[in-house]
Amino acid sequence: MNRPLLDVRDLSICFGGLVAVAEVNLALNASEIVCIIGPNGAGKSTLLNLISGIYRPTQGSVKLEGQDITGWPVHRIAAAGIARTFQSSRLFNDLTLLDNVLIGMHTRTSSGVLDALLRPAKARAELEAAAERAGELIRAVSPHLYARRHTLAGALPQADRRRLEIARALASEPKVIMLDEPSSGMDDRDTDALIADVRRLMVERPGLSFLIIEHDMRLVATLPDRVAVIDYGRKIADGDFSEVRLMPRVQEAYLGQ
Ligand code: ADP
Ligand code: MG
Repeated sequence: MNRPLLDVRDLSICFGGLVAVAEVNLALNASEIVCIIGPNGAGKSTLLNLISGIYRPTQGSVKLEGQDITGWPVHRIAAAGIARTFQSSRLFNDLTLLDNVLIGMHTRTSSGVLDALLRPAKARAELEAAAERAGELIRAVSPHLYARRHTLAGALPQADRRRLEIARALASEPKVIMLDEPSSGMDDRDTDALIADVRRLMVERPGLSFLIIEHDMRLVATLPDRVAVIDYGRKIADGDFSEVRLMPRVQEAYLGQ
């Protein structure tokens, strides 16, 4: 099958007079890892915000498995199979690791408040099953985090917070996970562990794909199948990192920083 899993065409958004994302084309295949790089303010996070439905594009389209999801609300896009993490951590510090992941599962549980009132036993059984699945997701990302699943998220060091956010993203059973600067605040050892985590998840979940905004060039050089470079809202290169990094336009974009 040649159709990409995620197909971004001609995607643009303007904020006032600023064109933050301009006519971006980007394809992501099943079981593929693509990194997005580019200078600060280039429009990388805005691109993820467009794909995940936080912003509506002024032009262009986003398709997932051929279905046009452009302009869908955030929760529908999440339910359709696109999960993400944010550049700044969005965990609930006063909740346990388990509860943080349970919150990410709300798109996948059927019981609502009414169910809980009318059929408490059924609702409780569903919640227990969900908690078990949440534990399994945490274990899939890190056995070490699993051991701490009943502690509060606020007590976690930065690298573990990033890991927990990936576990939460997995909770919606996504086809695509988008990570916005997952290695920020990590040292080299943590970044190596992150690379290993993503590789392991790719093996354990056939078909899962990652779209990762990154600054850490060690990660960018080793993890993705392809690298897309964004500068002033436009995609200026897309291909193997070894080729992309030598392109004069890419070097200029970085030298200009
Ligand atoms: P990057 O993630 O590549 O560092 P961003 O996508 O965060 O860059 O930002 C791209 C540009 O769009 C920046 O100039 C930023 O100030 C602008 N921008 C992002 N979001 C908004 C918004 N909600 N309103 C106005 N301008 C925005
Ligand atoms: Mg950003």
